[in-house]
Amino acid sequence: MERTFLIRTFGCQMNEHDSERIAGVLQADGLKPTDDVSEAGVVVLNTCAIRENADNKLYGNLGHLKPVKAANPGLRIVVAGCLAQKDRGEIQRRAPWVDVVVGTHALPHLLDLLERSETEGAQMDVREYTETFPSALPAVRLDAFRAWVSIAPGCDNACSFCIVPLVRGPQRSRSIGDILVEVQGLVAGGVVEVTLLGQNVNTYGRDVTVPGSARRPLFAQLLRQVGAVEGLRRVRFTSPHPRDFTPDVIDAMADTPTVCEHMHFPLQSGSDDVLRRMQRSYRRERYLEWLDRIRDAIPGIGVSTDVIVGFPGETEADFANTLEVVEAARFDSAYMFQYSPRPGTKAAAFDEQVPKEVVQERFDRLVELQERISSERAGALVGQTVEVLVEGGDRKGRSTQSRTRTNRIVHLADALEPGSFVDVRVVASAAHHLTGELVREPASPAR
Ligand code: SF4
Repeated sequence: MERTFLIRTFGCQMNEHDSERIAGVLQADGLKPTDDVSEAGVVVLNTCAIRENADNKLYGNLGHLKPVKAANPGLRIVVAGCLAQKDRGEIQRRAPWVDVVVGTHALPHLLDLLERSETEGAQMDVREYTETFPSALPAVRLDAFRAWVSIAPGCDNACSFCIVPLVRGPQRSRSIGDILVEVQGLVAGGVVEVTLLGQNVNTYGRDVTVPGSARRPLFAQLLRQVGAVEGLRRVRFTSPHPRDFTPDVIDAMADTPTVCEHMHFPLQSGSDDVLRRMQRSYRRERYLEWLDRIRDAIPGIGVSTDVIVGFPGETEADFANTLEVVEAARFDSAYMFQYSPRPGTKAAAFDEQVPKEVVQERFDRLVELQERISSERAGALVGQTVEVLVEGGDRKGRSTQSRTRTNRIVHLADALEPGSFVDVRVVASAAHHLTGELVREPASPAR
């Protein structure tokens, strides 16, 4: 087997973070990364079951890998992630040239599985539980100055459209001490921004017993403690659940200078009937009340959201409610999705699936509305001076991309050191980015 590996990641941030752990495990065993599939000894497809067409993407990629494997039988092909957990034997049935299927709880066993596959043939480990937190595994970070930190894998909710509880299992919170050690280590290595990752960060800690006190969420406490780590400049988190939101989290955000003024706050629908069928146990009024309280406490905060259009049984009146809430909420940005059933979820079996053309027409109306709001909110920032963290060259190599604390992308004409902080004046805006000009020399890198 060539001592090189290549990882392709198809999913959400949790999935991206798992890829960092997979890279860490392989690199700790002496393998080197490569971008060239013809040079790779191990190819890992890290899959996601949340995104649309996840299985088409997986089997498309596996189809391309089949002749590569035929030409190089020593190549090990690994399928990891949520789809591996969900589809199990189906993957090896449809793509028998796959060597290892490794589920979300089995990453600590990846090296054993690879070794066994060389002598015993195809291996599969989709165990439902492991004592080992992924955070105990080594990681290779995609960025030198930003890092994701998993605080609580799994989810105890049962949103009827979502596959996560099935593939990631119940929530398991890491201890605050363990998280702080990881963050301190990251900062010592030059990281200036961390994003705390959990399926439902507000319930972080509810499954941990603190001696002498009742079980309760500890997210506000975690935010304050992570935010106080010496040398750390920015703390972000994703995602809170509107049902479990608590005022102490707002206080912790407002009181902790390193916690960025941005929140992703998933709405999903503005119709109470649809929210009920989604098993999202908050209602539109409650959602909007939380938004008001958050904006009152943290002026200028950027808010993004998720909205699903065309959930089974969604009527025109339900959709009108969603438009109304989106208009009232004035999100800075939104991830908008057309509902499509995920096999294995409760909603996939619901009657009254909304016809595709109706979903498309509603989706187009929602996008038009949100684009207008995003443009208006971005336009209001022109003339302001903001601090940005430089991320690097933009994809087309024409400018430098940076990010505000409120999570807006700012393009700059100057070539600047990734990881540095600079102040910029916003000179132009579009719905999804701003253009800025430097107002002073860059601060020293990674500070
Ligand atoms: S809170 Fe709902 S949408 Fe989020 S991961 Fe859990 S079940 Fe899925």
